[in-house]
Amino acid sequence: MKYNSTRGKVAPIGFIDMFLMGLGEDGGLIVPETIPSVTDDQLKAWSKLSYQDLMLEIFSLFTNGEIPERDLRQLIQDSYAGFTSPAVLPLTTLNDSLHVLELFHGPTFAFKDVALQFMGNLYAYVAKKQNKVVNILGATSGDTGASAISSVRGKEGIQICILHPNGKVSLVQELQMTTVHDDNVLNLSVNGNFDDCQQIIKELFEDIPFKTKYHLRAINSINFVRILAQSVYYFYAYLQLPEKAKASGVNFSIPTGNFGNIFSGYLAKKMGLPIKQLVLATNENNILERFVREGVYKPEGFRSTHSPSMDIQIASNFERYLYYFMGEDAAAVTSRMEKFKSEGQLTFASEEVARIQQDLTAYSVGNAECLETIRTYQDRYGYLLDPHSACGIAAYEGAGNKNDGVFVSLATAHPAKFDEAIRLLGIEQKFPERIQELFDKPKHQVVVDNSKTEVVAQLESFYRVNK
Ligand SMILES: *Cc1c(COP(=O)(O)O)cnc(C)c1O
Repeated sequence: MKYNSTRGKVAPIGFIDMFLMGLGEDGGLIVPETIPSVTDDQLKAWSKLSYQDLMLEIFSLFTNGEIPERDLRQLIQDSYAGFTSPAVLPLTTLNDSLHVLELFHGPTFAFKDVALQFMGNLYAYVAKKQNKVVNILGATSGDTGASAISSVRGKEGIQICILHPNGKVSLVQELQMTTVHDDNVLNLSVNGNFDDCQQIIKELFEDIPFKTKYHLRAINSINFVRILAQSVYYFYAYLQLPEKAKASGVNFSIPTGNFGNIFSGYLAKKMGLPIKQLVLATNENNILERFVREGVYKPEGFRSTHSPSMDIQIASNFERYLYYFMGEDAAAVTSRMEKFKSEGQLTFASEEVARIQQDLTAYSVGNAECLETIRTYQDRYGYLLDPHSACGIAAYEGAGNKNDGVFVSLATAHPAKFDEAIRLLGIEQKFPERIQELFDKPKHQVVVDNSKTEVVAQLESFYRVNK
């Protein structure tokens, strides 16, 4: 299995090189040259596997034999040892046709842990095996940063710098990032929004001499390994459903920001997992919903919502979808992305919109609707949703075609992480101990302006000090 870029100009590379490259050096996103297909018999054989064993099977289809099976198994075991649920990602049944897959039982209580705990361990493994310097650099709307920092803090041979939008992440998210005092961690709090942070990171990764000089590595969902790690839970959820449910058809509803989570489902479907609908749930930052409904991909004014991890305009994985939508034609993707860069928007013809709507169903959830959903599910099922997970549920309610069978709605964060929203409803919750203890710890971060130059200066001194 080799990898190339959506723009076709990265020579076919192997699994570890792909992992280290992150963003394609031609500015595109890395994709596998061919997507392996999983047969019905294979699926049946996988149905009794633990989460860890299932991940091993799926990764083995992609790793090219570059990681010996024993090592890969150990990496996977270590990555999920810090999850508090024995099932790792438990599937909860709310009623006959609605299940919730809880992705938030990792160390930082959000679904980012599922992929990032593994990626942190994989970076440490590669750093040791290949004697490579690993400087992880990323932007976060809150959860990625916390999870990435937790996965590599104190690890030898790795340094991590995370940019987050100053004052635009939840209190718990901020504490999870900034109460870590290991020398290999730098938190930059940027006076701007998430898209500003991501833009700076994107420019630094496109600056190949800078990227090479400082051995920069990506943790954002531009990294294909993260996408692949997330595909595993689509298989896992499907395989846990009763036979009757599987026979009736299985659909997923997915809280979406950067299009990473849902792209992982799209990949699972392309591998042969029988998924009917993929419901794309956005909050009021609804560029992706407008793309699916109207065929216009165009950023509009940024809005702060109850689900800050989805407050994103430019979805970094959109280009991966575009690549498959356009029949894996790298030249066509390149010209469309260049057009987007120069004109600030893309429009799709009506026959294209019809095809997009076969792949995706989209629904945007308003702030009030998000809170009402939390209230309704608390009253009806005694089940407390966080505001991101509530977007998934609201999209299932609002746009899921119930004739297509059962739905699995992805719960992407623990409600304690977003108590600001829960409190608006007058609902009191008890914090897990690992969150409660954060409130007493001192914070450590550097505030910078929305300026690439300032970020570069901070990075250069961080790398100098921490040689
Ligand atoms: C990151 C995140 C999302 C959105 O996932 P994408 O991969 O960016 O689409 C949804 N919910 C929570 C809690 C998140 O942290």
